[in-house]
Amino acid sequence: MPTAIVTGITGQDGSYMAEFLLERGYHVVGIVRRTSTENNGRIAHIQDDITLEPGDLHDQYSLIEILKKHRPDEVYNLAAQSFVQTSWYQPVLTGEVTALGATRMLEAVRAVDPGIRFYQASSSEMFGAVQEWPQSESTPFYPRSPYGVAKLYAHWITINYRESFDMYACSGICFNHESPRRGLEFVTRKISYNAARVHHEIIDKVPFGNLTTTRDWGYAPDYVRAMWLMLQQPEPDDYVLATGETHSGEEFAELAFAHLGLDARDHIYTSEDLFRPAEVDRLIGDPSKAREKLGWEPSVTFKELVTIMVDADMELVESELAHAQIMASRHGA
Ligand code: NAP
Repeated sequence: MPTAIVTGITGQDGSYMAEFLLERGYHVVGIVRRTSTENNGRIAHIQDDITLEPGDLHDQYSLIEILKKHRPDEVYNLAAQSFVQTSWYQPVLTGEVTALGATRMLEAVRAVDPGIRFYQASSSEMFGAVQEWPQSESTPFYPRSPYGVAKLYAHWITINYRESFDMYACSGICFNHESPRRGLEFVTRKISYNAARVHHEIIDKVPFGNLTTTRDWGYAPDYVRAMWLMLQQPEPDDYVLATGETHSGEEFAELAFAHLGLDARDHIYTSEDLFRPAEVDRLIGDPSKAREKLGWEPSVTFKELVTIMVDADMELVESELAHAQIMASRHGA
């Protein structure tokens, strides 16, 4: 049975990756950092089928020890401080985790067994102030946030370890990918969750930052499949993972609210407090290489993605309301 170690297993991609690998008969080991309250909501349903090890991308020793203990065939480095906005407030932490964390993971692989196959979660935010359209593996980078800069460091250190130490290290330049498991602070999920709350008359208006920027939005389970495919090739390489379409946040909001019979313009407004200090205006990926070499195609359209997320958040809000009612009746309200 092959063994895979997944960092960031409690996150969106990590949880889908764990499910995907279990289906393929892997022993899945997830590295989880210590938190004062358990944070395993996204993997609660598979917790009995996987092994969780305490570790942190800040802590070199823990990473080496986990690799020594489990001797994996593959390592998926999905952990990061992953929210662009936070990277301006915590630039040093973002560099420590998102950039140097990747180096620590690569060092652990090199120390324990350089034959372990390694995947690095790179990002379209590395293209930032975009130099050409659409963006491919050969497009020059120009990151526009501490997050983008940190990801670019991690991308190049992955290539550097591949070329310097002959390691099977790959970087997936992923454009945005979303799902009902996306964090609530990310714009797509903020839209789908709040559209459901507006529908249930819990709130009426929601502030957003700049919704005119456009992104190439795909469905997260499609992207973890591509990450795995990258590690099954004869040679390690880097791939853009994208849909090849771009849509604005406004379009996402329009479709999400319309799915519930609402007009987004009645319920969202712009707050400049939520703008990024430096913006990335328009991203659109060219996934030709992944299509040709990996045989990879995204399976979910933009409209289907919006529908999947809104339907899931309608269920979530309904269960939150039911829970609130039970609590109120228990307390005699
Ligand atoms: P996510 O939901 O924010 O998950 C991030 C994960 O990293 C969480 O499990 C988090 O643990 C973990 N983590 C954070 N700091 C850590 C540390 N010091 N040590 C160990 N683990 C730590 O992100 P995602 O959307 O799944 O994305 C997965 C990866 O792909 C990230 O590297 C992200 O930057 C990159 N990426 C994502 C997208 C996208 O559109 N989703 C696009 C391009 C690249 P806690 O649960 O404890 O916080």
